[in-house]
Parts: sequence; C-alpha cells; structure tokens
Amino acid sequence: MIQKSNSIVEVHLDKLKQNLQTLRSHLDKNTRIMSVVKADAYGHGAVEVAGTLEPLVEAFAVNDIHEGIELRKQGITKPVLVFEVPQKSMASHYRMHNLTATVSAKEHFDWLPNGSSYHLNFDTGMGRLGFAPDEAERVLSLVKQNENIFCTGLYSHFATADSPGSDFVAEQHRLFKMIREQFPQKLSAHIANTGATAFYSSEQFNMVRLGIGLYGYAPGTTEIKDIAPILQWKSKLVQVKPITEQSTVSYGATWQAPEDGYLGIIPVGYDDGLKRSLSEELTVRINGERYPLVGNITMNYSMVFLGEDEYKPDTSVQLLYSGSNAWDWASKIDTIPYEILTSINPKIPREYIL
Ligand SMILES: *Cc1c(COP(=O)(O)O)cnc(C)c1O
Repeated sequence: MIQKSNSIVEVHLDKLKQNLQTLRSHLDKNTRIMSVVKADAYGHGAVEVAGTLEPLVEAFAVNDIHEGIELRKQGITKPVLVFEVPQKSMASHYRMHNLTATVSAKEHFDWLPNGSSYHLNFDTGMGRLGFAPDEAERVLSLVKQNENIFCTGLYSHFATADSPGSDFVAEQHRLFKMIREQFPQKLSAHIANTGATAFYSSEQFNMVRLGIGLYGYAPGTTEIKDIAPILQWKSKLVQVKPITEQSTVSYGATWQAPEDGYLGIIPVGYDDGLKRSLSEELTVRINGERYPLVGNITMNYSMVFLGEDEYKPDTSVQLLYSGSNAWDWASKIDTIPYEILTSINPKIPREYIL
C-alpha cells in the first residue's frame, strides 16, 4: 500500500489502556472483555491496538476473516472471534489460523472443517445476522450432531444500547437470557457492547464486547465519564497566501473573504476522509488558535482562513483534536463517530505514542 505523507494520525496507546480500565470499572470482576478491533480497530490500527490490549483483555473480535489472519500473522495469540458470515471458500482458514467462526445459519455447520471452533449468533432484535430465538432448541441439536466442531460460545447484539433506559434493550436481554439457559453454562455468553456496558446494570453474562468506548467515544449522545479519544489527526500548511476581501475560495466559489487576510492550504481532502459534507463546518487548530475551514473541501486539499495571521508553510495544523473530535464532526453531518473514524484513509500513517 502506498502511504500518504500529507497528514498523520497520532494514536495514544496509554489513553487506550486508561479507557479500558474505566470501562472495566462498569463490570463485575469476573466478566471477561472481548475487545472489538474490526475495521482496523475503528481506524486506529488493529495490530497495534490488539498488541497493546492483549495482556489486559481475554479475547478480540474482527469482522472479516482476513483481519483475523492478519492478527495471527502479527503474533496475537488470544481468541479471535470473526463476526462475518462464514464463506464456504474460506472455511478452512478458521482452523488453520485458530480463529473462532460465527455460526448463524444451518449450512455453516457443514462448511467448517473438523477441529474448528465457533460461537453461535442469535438475532434477538438487531434484525441483522443470527438464528431466531425460537430456533434455539433445533440449533442445540445441530451443535450436538456436529461434535467434531466446537461450540465455545453464543452471542447476540443490541440494537438500541447507545443510550440508557431502552425497553428494547430489556427485551433483547430477556430473550438472550432465555436462549442462554438452554445451552451449557460453561460457554462464553455475550451480548453487551460499549453502550450496554456503560449504561445498563443488567447481567452482562460472562463476557462483553467493547469497541467504541476503548477508542474514547460514547456510542450515542450520552457521555461516558472518564473516557477520552485516543486519536488526533494532524497535517501542515503547505502554502499560505494573501487573500483580498470578497475573493472566493474553492469549487463553486461559495465562500468569499470577509476582509483582506491570509489563506492557508491544507493538503487533506475528502480522499483522506475529511468528508466534503463538512465543508464550512469545521475549525482547525493552529498554534493553539482555532481557524475556520472555508469553501468546499476538495479531493486533496482544504482551505483555512487565517485572518491577519501570516503563518509560514509547514506550520502544524490539528484537524481532529480535543475541542473538535469525531463526535463534534459527526453531529454536524448527522452521523456517528464510528463513521468519522473509519473514514480516515488507511494510507495515512499512524504514529503510536506510548
Ligand atoms: C461493532 C460491534 C460491537 C462493538 O460495538 P461498540 O458500540 O463499538 O462497543 C459489538 N458487537 C458486534 C456484533 C459488533 O458488530
């Protein structure tokens, strides 16, 4: 992969560990943590995040089997659950790389080679993957019939746990508890994500799956105390030039300078993950001060109005920082921090701060 060199994503691994510790304080002592590092750890870099967390958590989850294979190649040895629907052509890799498959349909039992392990997925209301709750008995008999592959857990996923007090969470919890009672108690059983862990006091069974909270964000608009974002995105001004009152900036000529001043050019655009819909919505930080991005964000550049401050080219610019984090961006364009974080182009180098 050709790396981009016009910006850098800084990931603070010490803060990652602090977030984990904070989230653990919401759990019973014996509840195990599966840390979700799908989508390259929500853009933070799965290998480094998993390497940092491995001594502190009990398992990992990824979406794609290739993400799991990569973790194994990089030396991660703890259990790795793969969320995606198994593909017949890839089934042999689960055993080969000691990855835990997700079984969510009858045919998956036939595809997995002897010696593979899996967790069962039940759909208690998410409306996505998984067996229906009333199939539990039939699924249990399939588990027993397929004794050469190993069921090591069962799980489900909440649809509305991003904020507290949802009756729908209570209903999904009730269904999952009922399913779980039909299976051997020694299996791993997990339904809680970050939201359910932080906002609900109901039983967490024996494992939770934490994603967004580890990266320092709450899943919805309710805050989680004592967690903080671990990622900052930085670039540099590549050019600074004078701009006269009323001259326009960028495609569509939608922005006009309110007065004479300076315009800074930042070599980051929507190809990098700075979404075009954020045009005219953001402030960047330079030398401790905030300045507005102006005009439309283009594919590889965006522009900042510096007023009368004439910075030198190469001056550092903070794009994502405390004060303008992924939630601030998300709320301006009606999305969630998950989407902002996973939109940052993987070709941008990640720098890890211990
Ligand atoms: C992404 C995901 C999670 C993690 O959710 P967060 O809200 O990031 O904690 C847990 N379980 C499943 C099945 C997921 O897809």
